[in-house]
Order: sequence, then C-alpha cells, then structure tokens
Amino acid sequence: MDPSELEKKITIAAKLLKKSRRVVALTGAGSSTESGIRDFRGPDGLWKQEDPMKWAHIDAFRRDPSAYWNRAIDPTRSLNFDAVEPNDGHRGVAELEQMGKVIAVITQNVDGLHQKAGSKEVIELHGTVIYAHCLTCGTQYKRLDVLKRVKNGESPPLCTKSGCQGILKSNTILFGEPLPQDALMRAYQLTEMCDLMLILGSSLVVYPAAQLPNVAVRCGAKLILINLEETEKDYLAEITIQGKIGTILPKIIEKLKDLED
Ligand SMILES: [Zn+2]
Repeated sequence: MDPSELEKKITIAAKLLKKSRRVVALTGAGSSTESGIRDFRGPDGLWKQEDPMKWAHIDAFRRDPSAYWNRAIDPTRSLNFDAVEPNDGHRGVAELEQMGKVIAVITQNVDGLHQKAGSKEVIELHGTVIYAHCLTCGTQYKRLDVLKRVKNGESPPLCTKSGCQGILKSNTILFGEPLPQDALMRAYQLTEMCDLMLILGSSLVVYPAAQLPNVAVRCGAKLILINLEETEKDYLAEITIQGKIGTILPKIIEKLKDLED
C-alpha cells in the first residue's frame, strides 16, 4: 500500500475510535501468528500436517484421551503456549481498554495472549489453553500443572478430588463440541451494544465470528478491519487496512492520542 494512502486510513481509523464510546475488538488467528503461533488453516497450518479430525475431535478424545495428552507434551506436534509472548497488537488492544475505548475483546484464539498483554474483559469463543477440567465433576485445573503430570507419565491425567478419578480435558473446544454458551451469549450482547467493532486478524469464515460483523452493522456500529488479506466481510467495513496488526494498531493509537490532546 502506498504510504500516504496508509497514513490516510490510519487517520480515519483514529477519528472513528475517537468518536466511539463502546468499542469491541474481535480477534482471530492473524493476531497471534505475529507472536509466532502458527495458524491452523493457513498454508503452513498445523492442520496441514495431520488431520485434526483424528485427534482434535471430541470422539477421538473420548476414545483415547491419553493419545491426546501425549500429543500435547510432544514439542514436534504441539505448541508450547507457555513460551509465547503477546505482540504489539495484543498490547494495543489492552491499551485501548485502559484508555476507556475498548469495553471487551471477543477472540477466536485459545492462547490467552490478550490476558497476558493486560486485557481484562476477554470473551473466548473457542475456550482456552490456560485451564483443563474434570469431565466428571467439572473441577478446574491449570493446564500447565496437568501437562507436568503427563510428562511424569500420568496419561491420561485424572481428577485428584477424592473418589472422583474423572478424566481431565483441556478447556479448548474440540470439533464436535458445542461452543461455550455463556461466551457466545456475551459475544452477541456486546456486539449488539458496541458502536465500533475493531476486527483484527480474523478471516471471518468460521461461525460465530463470521456473523458478528453483520450483527454489529445491523445494530448501527461501524467496523474497522485489519487483516493481512481481504476477508468476506470487507464490504461491511467503514475502513479496511491490509497489513500487520502489530505495526498498524500502534500507529492508530498514536494518532488517536494526538487527536485527543
Ligand atoms: Zn473430578
């Protein structure tokens, strides 16, 4: 993109942010690839290596939970989420929340990077890698602690609540599982009440993220869309910027601060 055109778009985005009172950020895989997390569906995506239906489906998990957990501790087949750090995009979203602009982040990502960057109100549509829970009694565990137990040979890991012994499952949503209803409801509520939706790094093809921009526009909100590639919903946006979120969002925030002075 020609630099003056980019500059113009950044100014328009900053002006939109300045006018807005209830901004909701909607983020997808593209916001985390800049932290070194490979996305699933892209050309180098994890799902090109192995058919996800063979291991990331709830039926596969129920058939052989220990295979799932053994995979989770195998560095050649799973990501070490603990070692991943948020990037300037995540930090930008958190800063906009501190400035009183962003009221919540709705994310398709499970990596917990928004929280690591300081965002407080995070709605996780596809669950989280931070926790695991017992399938029998629902007790929550830190997934890192569970992974340590698997590394020590406890596979599948079991609930330690007395007399329970239920199988532990990561809080990420597998194929074949329903999306978490409370997160879904909250996402729709926030989308209906926002006056600006800031869409970052989502290709907007997977439900419900694919539908939220339409709902936002129908309820009178404007959209800013930042993504490396074009998306199916570009036509709905007030402004679209193709580029890296970690580069563009800080520029928009800088401009916003200039405007507010
Ligand atoms: Zn239990």
